[in-house]
Amino acid sequence: EIYCDSAATTAIDPEVIEAILPYLTTNFGNPSSSHWAGRKVREMIDNARNTIAKLLGVTAEEIFFVSGATEANNLALSESIREYELTHAITSKIEHKAVLQPLLKHEREGDIEISYVKLDKKGNVDIEHLEHLLDANPQSLISLMHANNEIGNITDIEAISKLAEKYNAIFHTDTTQTIGKVKIDLKEFPVDFLVGSAHKFHGPKGVGFIYINKRHKLKPQILGGAQEKGQRGGTENAIGIAGLAKALEISYRDFDSIHEKTTTLKQRLISQLENSGIPEIGFNGESKSSSQSLSSIVNISFPCLQSGSLVNSLDTFGIAVSGGSACSNLGNGGSHVISAIQDEENKENVRFSFSKFNTTEEIDQIVNTIAKIYEADNNTVEESID
Ligand code: PLP
Repeated sequence: EIYCDSAATTAIDPEVIEAILPYLTTNFGNPSSSHWAGRKVREMIDNARNTIAKLLGVTAEEIFFVSGATEANNLALSESIREYELTHAITSKIEHKAVLQPLLKHEREGDIEISYVKLDKKGNVDIEHLEHLLDANPQSLISLMHANNEIGNITDIEAISKLAEKYNAIFHTDTTQTIGKVKIDLKEFPVDFLVGSAHKFHGPKGVGFIYINKRHKLKPQILGGAQEKGQRGGTENAIGIAGLAKALEISYRDFDSIHEKTTTLKQRLISQLENSGIPEIGFNGESKSSSQSLSSIVNISFPCLQSGSLVNSLDTFGIAVSGGSACSNLGNGGSHVISAIQDEENKENVRFSFSKFNTTEEIDQIVNTIAKIYEADNNTVEESID
């Protein structure tokens, strides 16, 4: 079996499992308890918060643990709209649903109007248009993702941060796909909110964090306890937090070697496919760019494949890839990202996303399998013409 869908989720690193184990066994206390059992876990959570804060160049008081990026995005967007009585949001059509849906809810309820920033054919944000939108509505909530989860494009959040500062706008960025993969030093440029989800960087599922710039005080979204300095009620997911911090630490410790490895895998997949004889392969977004795209994602269209879904065919060979995002596979049809940037309908697009655990042999096997599927597909089409 080959797993090539690491933008959906990643395998847990064995070192992370080791870091989690004590909190599954002996260190089971409730971090809010004042006795020894609670203190052991509280100490780990404090250390985890410090680790994350240090890696991002912020203070520990600005990091709050939550259940993942979906919750973090909802919190940042809904509670900043409420707190500041914001009436205008600027976003893009290719944001994750965990951003679009809360914004659309506020639009439906009459709280805000949404403007969508223009994108070019490759899915890049038109910064001039963003400035034009800010000129018309300076006190906006800007929500633009750092890297897109389907096509891998990286957006210049530093440039957006400067514009937000100039216009006194609030800037939330969905960094779910970049935390641990692209270094972000918030000492260099400010953002108001950013988010992370541990399972995207070899940590456990169901745990993440939100960075809330200390100039903001948001109301909690989940009420019921004084945990996380009153920002998020509910006993902390100590097991998850232990894993999250360890996973992020490893991502930074091994940053260069991981980046080099995923870059090699991506370039190998691209060049092998280009030399495979399969015609008309299209690389979506900035997939072929090394500077404007994640080294871990490549999104490809195969217009020549006539029958069935390539994602399903690859699955029958034990190869796990994705058509768009895993979440959009849950049922609502094609990719809203691809349809926002492409004119042609119904082009099947396939997302290959790598991690440090993939190998060059796996890439070769993937390309050979696609070539086999193409050949079989072509034979079937010829037979049906006869
Ligand atoms: N935002 C982006 C860009 C993502 O890729 C994902 C994960 O699919 C999410 C948000 C949601 O993350 P989670 O499901 O971990 O809450």
